[in-house]
Amino acid sequence: MKKVAVIGGGASGLIAACFAAEKGNRVILFEKQKKLGRKVLVTGNGRCNISNRNLDPLNYHGRNTGFVAEVLGRFGLDETVDFFNSIGLPFVEEEGGRLYPASLQSSSVVSIFEYELLKRKVDVRLHRRIDGISRSGGRFVLETAGNEKHDFDSVILSPGSCAFPRAGASRIGYELARSIKHRVYEPFPSILPLNVPLKMLHRLQGIKIDCGVSVIDAGRELCRSRGEVLFTAYGISGPAALDVSRCVNEHAMRGDLPEIEIDLYPGYTEDQMRSILMSMWNDPEKRLAFSLFGLMRKNMPEVILGIAGLDPEARVGDLDESSIERLIAGMKRLRITPGDPRGFDEAVVAAGGVDVEEVNPHTMESKIMRGLYITGELLDIDGDSGGYNLQFAWSTGALAGMAQQP
Ligand SMILES: Cc1cc2nc3c(=O)[nH]c(=O)nc-3n(C[C@H](O)[C@H](O)[C@H](O)COP(=O)(O)OP(=O)(O)OC[C@H]3O[C@@H](n4cnc5c(N)ncnc54)[C@H](O)[C@@H]3O)c2cc1C
Repeated sequence: MKKVAVIGGGASGLIAACFAAEKGNRVILFEKQKKLGRKVLVTGNGRCNISNRNLDPLNYHGRNTGFVAEVLGRFGLDETVDFFNSIGLPFVEEEGGRLYPASLQSSSVVSIFEYELLKRKVDVRLHRRIDGISRSGGRFVLETAGNEKHDFDSVILSPGSCAFPRAGASRIGYELARSIKHRVYEPFPSILPLNVPLKMLHRLQGIKIDCGVSVIDAGRELCRSRGEVLFTAYGISGPAALDVSRCVNEHAMRGDLPEIEIDLYPGYTEDQMRSILMSMWNDPEKRLAFSLFGLMRKNMPEVILGIAGLDPEARVGDLDESSIERLIAGMKRLRITPGDPRGFDEAVVAAGGVDVEEVNPHTMESKIMRGLYITGELLDIDGDSGGYNLQFAWSTGALAGMAQQP
């Protein structure tokens, strides 16, 4: 029987401990907080978007996404559904293939894991932060914050990322990985709102509309999303803005800020937009801003006209061809420049992390230190929103647990 340590009682650590114990090992799980799964509890607005029916490596990002294909090829959706069914957690499906526990409560996921750990005789040590990992005489020595030392045959490192410190996240996982000579790519925040310094845009605060959002660099579209955008006092939020935040922040990390292009009327082509305007503009005396009141939410006409460089006080009859084109561009291709990235406080995930070239995708074993396994968001892989991040945590945790041959 092997003595296995799991560092971190979050998504990947919980499932890793279950599988490692099932193999007949003696498993000790260290969690630095007073409770297990604090981040799991806040997922999916407390409903836990546990996975996605349309699981695809294309929904993941990082320097080597081929790693994801290998991982999901070994422990993918079917294996995840089977595992959760076997512990009494059936799934329900919602829009976009998003899977949730049928209870629609993340607390039920954590409670069921707590029961499984107990049943499989995992020794759970709460309020125990691991501060050091070293090797001595072929064994691992873990040091806790209280200077206790414990030795193990193998270690599963599942401390998560530094995103969302409100749920207890910190940078300690990266420090532990660096201390054992793993390369760590500097993390940056992903799936979070975007700052837009253009003050005029802030007047749209509170408006929520369906938009197309693209990220453009030197005339090239880098990524795009379609969905709700919420205009805020500092920039933009809402699902479509969150979707493109990774792409924006990745470029900002390299020191170049691309532009964001917002299509405020994604349901219409520019020609259709032109026809709509022409059919509305039958009164040449109408103030331009007022002439758009039937088409736009409050404050929008002044802001869109202002950004397009048009005078809201102008008369409809005074508009020439180029002014009309500028207005249509403002409605269909509103260009804004993002500001500095917002912080990890608001980020759902952290991109960057441990270089996956140094990890075996079949077992999660480190290629730098044999007997050490690395799982979850600590790795240089992050997923889109929609259940992909938890799925990566379940898959990597399960593979690391299954690799613990007693
Ligand atoms: C607000 C929010 C909503 C989200 N919603 C979703 C969603 O609906 N669907 C989805 O797929 N993903 C979602 N995510 C992302 C998802 O929660 C994470 O990707 C996932 O939890 C990562 O799992 P993990 O095991 O790597 O880390 P975590 O789940 O963060 O677990 C790491 C654990 O390790 C502990 N720990 C850290 N260091 C130490 C140490 N040195 N010693 C002992 N213990 C330590 C931490 O306290 C923590 O409990 C959301 C994230 C946030 C912040």
